[in-house]
Amino acid sequence: VGERLYLGMDFGTSGARFAIINKDGTILSEGKKEYPKFTTEESIDWLRSWKVTLFSLLEAVPVNLRPLIASISIDGTSATTIIIDSNSGEPLWRPFLYNESCPDALPVVKSIAPANHTVCSGTSTLCKLVSWWNTEGENRESALLLHQADWLLWLLHGKLGLSDYNNALKVGYDPELESYPPWLLSQPYSQLLPSVQAPGTSIGYLKEGIRTEFGFPKDCVVCTGTTDSIAAFLAARATEPGKAVTSLGSTLAIKLLSTSRIEDARFGVYSHRLDDKWLVGGASNTGGAVLRQIFTDEQLEKLSEHIDPMEVSPLDYYPLQVVGERFPVADPKMVPRLHPRPQSDVEYLHGILESIARIEAKGYSLLKDMGATQVDEVFTAGGGAKNEKWTKIRERVLGLPVSRAIQTEAAYGAALLALKGAQAQHNEQ
Ligand code: ADP
Repeated sequence: VGERLYLGMDFGTSGARFAIINKDGTILSEGKKEYPKFTTEESIDWLRSWKVTLFSLLEAVPVNLRPLIASISIDGTSATTIIIDSNSGEPLWRPFLYNESCPDALPVVKSIAPANHTVCSGTSTLCKLVSWWNTEGENRESALLLHQADWLLWLLHGKLGLSDYNNALKVGYDPELESYPPWLLSQPYSQLLPSVQAPGTSIGYLKEGIRTEFGFPKDCVVCTGTTDSIAAFLAARATEPGKAVTSLGSTLAIKLLSTSRIEDARFGVYSHRLDDKWLVGGASNTGGAVLRQIFTDEQLEKLSEHIDPMEVSPLDYYPLQVVGERFPVADPKMVPRLHPRPQSDVEYLHGILESIARIEAKGYSLLKDMGATQVDEVFTAGGGAKNEKWTKIRERVLGLPVSRAIQTEAAYGAALLALKGAQAQHNEQ
């Protein structure tokens, strides 16, 4: 028996990627595709675009590796919602995109859900469902709701009506009870909700037509997926409670693996289930976008070279692009603080980087105060991860080991889910 391989695909906000790994997690092949733009009279035909991209990713898998692929999984953007007809499989409405808001449905959703539930946001999957139900609602009896990843996976395995508990969180699924809650099941549209499995659960074999067309093996299985941000966390392989990933992109986001589940809508803090653990997270409005307003990436690199990370900066800032902060301070009126600006740009940057590090530290300590497992090691993703001086400053401020995550691509995380699903199936047999 030759080596078996695992294929993960990521459908992110700006394009799609694939990664193929072996059982040790070594990458054998990777690739990226932009979404082609198909436009109808009034809108972009996203479903067609995603479908074409899915098959062009399969096409991009090296021909010699295809016969070795044991399993496939996919992550998609969270709360991207598709309503299809369960008889024909045809869409009943254009997809609702992850960042689309349905404020019309918010009062209804707030009246049925517990206070501060994750569904109580205009962009939640449930608001999208309720908005469709109340305004369009064609062929309600046979309608079915799928998330982006569910829909793409369905194209591969052909079994309709399946999701995973990460994607289903924002439609109201309770991953602790392992069911939809009674307040949701009593609604007439609850019949549209997909059934839910753990991410990385083998669902069935790859459709025969696709298998033979592309040369995948007969026993190639398709596994449930997750959301893009969870897949990116999985990529860092922070698998023990207390391990965390800080993402230093345009904004600062922290995600911590915890043995306990915490929620606090005031701070936008909630937990996703990962098997027997919880992935807790919060996102601040501070981050690299502010740096980019002041310095170019080249300046950031040059100035950072002259920073002594062991020296404590006396400057105390709260870098924000615009007024308002959510986490670790819930204050919609918080004003950005970037003054006084010293003569030296090196000192200025040092002060900003250290101030962001303090916000990061405050974030982790807030999660602990809310009852999460205490953080003991931080991996870093995003554009700020490559700044070694910042890493040293953060180690000092956090009092923890900090390093750059080796893998940060969501497609790699999806490939790990494919591996998980194949291994579980193998153990069962
Ligand atoms: P996103 O995907 O969230 O837009 P990225 O992960 O691509 O962001 O990171 C981009 C950010 O990284 C920019 O806002 C930029 O300010 C920051 N950045 C780039 N180079 C450096 C550096 N050397 N040190 C610190 N931050 C940096």
